[in-house]
Amino acid sequence: MNNSYDVIVVGGGGSGLAAAVAAADVGAKVLLLEKNPSLGGSTSISIGSFSAANSSFQHAAGIRDNPDDFTEDIGKFAPQWESRNNVELRLLLAQHSSETLEWLRSLGLEFYGPSPEPPNRVPRMHNVIPNAKAYIAVMHWHVLRRNVILRTNARVARLVTNATGRVIGVRLESGEEIIARRGVVLAAGDYSNNRDIKARYVPRPVADIPGINPTATGDGHELGASVGGALLNMDVLLGPQIRFIAPSSKPFSQLLPSTPWLARLMGWGASLLPKPVIRAMTKQLLVTWQHPEDALYEHGAILVNKRGERFTDEKQGNLALVIAQQPERHAFIILNKRLGDMYSKSPHYISTAPDIAYAYLPDYKRLRSDIYRQGNTLPELAQRAGLPVERFVQTIAELAKSQPDWNEGPWYSLGPAVSWIVLSEGGLRVDAQMRVLRADASVIPGLYAAGSNGQGGIMIWGHGLHIAWAFTSGRLAGTNAAQHSVFERE
Ligand SMILES: Cc1cc2nc3c(=O)[nH]c(=O)nc-3n(C[C@H](O)[C@H](O)[C@H](O)COP(=O)(O)OP(=O)(O)OC[C@H]3O[C@@H](n4cnc5c(N)ncnc54)[C@H](O)[C@@H]3O)c2cc1C
Repeated sequence: MNNSYDVIVVGGGGSGLAAAVAAADVGAKVLLLEKNPSLGGSTSISIGSFSAANSSFQHAAGIRDNPDDFTEDIGKFAPQWESRNNVELRLLLAQHSSETLEWLRSLGLEFYGPSPEPPNRVPRMHNVIPNAKAYIAVMHWHVLRRNVILRTNARVARLVTNATGRVIGVRLESGEEIIARRGVVLAAGDYSNNRDIKARYVPRPVADIPGINPTATGDGHELGASVGGALLNMDVLLGPQIRFIAPSSKPFSQLLPSTPWLARLMGWGASLLPKPVIRAMTKQLLVTWQHPEDALYEHGAILVNKRGERFTDEKQGNLALVIAQQPERHAFIILNKRLGDMYSKSPHYISTAPDIAYAYLPDYKRLRSDIYRQGNTLPELAQRAGLPVERFVQTIAELAKSQPDWNEGPWYSLGPAVSWIVLSEGGLRVDAQMRVLRADASVIPGLYAAGSNGQGGIMIWGHGLHIAWAFTSGRLAGTNAAQHSVFERE
């Protein structure tokens, strides 16, 4: 068979790269297919935090931890979903988390931590350095080293099955069919940007809100379901949340590292850097993707739309949902002098990755000049922010009648801020070997899923749990697929 491999991995984000490397490490001939022109997926735009229990970093810090406590604490991040959680898989994640972290370190990635994140009872968050692109660059290097065949611009459109229902390969959008002798691993990310899938499970206004990652279109979920895989918790989305628009030019930290060698060099160099320097590097990400704190509105910040109008009581309701209904889904956060002073220093930050770095108003001025505007008069601010002057001045004058501190400038605008679905939590039902299961819990032979595709009903809302799951489940899926029996040809 010419066009055949032992294992085919669908998707080149964190879970797919882990699956490809792990499968190659147990001797499989592996093909990695990525629909985009380059590897990365949501993994590459993440903050890069990785939560783990019982890690060498914790030991070095004198912290005693264990998977049972970790499992219990994960449940506290999303108590509303606890009754639907897959406790077995959650324990699996907790048990394998530090082993996966050490595996990534052995491949050349560097981390710092652990950082606290309540309700975790002990610090468990580890952050990759210099940023999440290092995951992709280092894993890419290992994929090449292991002679995994990598094809980009190769979108998988269908799974190929034999008469017994075993998955035996994939068909690309181009029509090309490729055989997987042992198994196919679905690692194609989430469906946060697929309106049709979302609309099957959540009300239309939410389904209409785009995902941050435009290429997170749920292909893996559809592929798995097309051969009978059961989908779990598809109505659970993280978002809508308010985040600023992406910078018009890529920030420095998003550009680095772009090659595996550079990633290794930077990882090595960054491990020697003092914490304040790492914090400074992390700030760039904070002002790029992190959502502005809700405390802003509690302290009196207001939102205006592109017409310069206030459109809601900022202290109530789902602001992200209301913003989604404004022209172009845009809103601007407006601060007066009092708020500007308050949010220029600790303890009042505009965005954060908890206990790692905090971004204040001057950080936005320095790092996001495209969304930060200041005006010594209200017309000046309106002009700089591109808001209709007359209407905006009227809006603030109205507010100042009951809150006189709005008479005092300078005034600031941050935005546009947009509503996004950050990620989706639904996934294919899987067992502890990452084999895809039908609704009756029977195994679909030859089909594995990892990362968002193989989320299997676990609710993992704390920082660092999705990345930990992506690499842990990817590694397990790749190893198990590579060891699956070769299918018999009829
Ligand atoms: C802004 C942001 C910040 C985040 N920060 C964190 C964090 O700090 N810590 C944390 O734990 N989690 C974080 N997350 C979540 C985390 O990044 C993801 O859950 C995780 O990376 C998913 O990994 P994955 O391998 O399943 O998917 P992805 O990394 O998205 O990879 C999927 C890949 O499959 C490809 N693909 C899709 N369809 C096909 C197809 N048909 N054929 C071939 N290829 C296909 C995609 O192009 C993509 O490259 C963040 C998410 C976002 C959006």
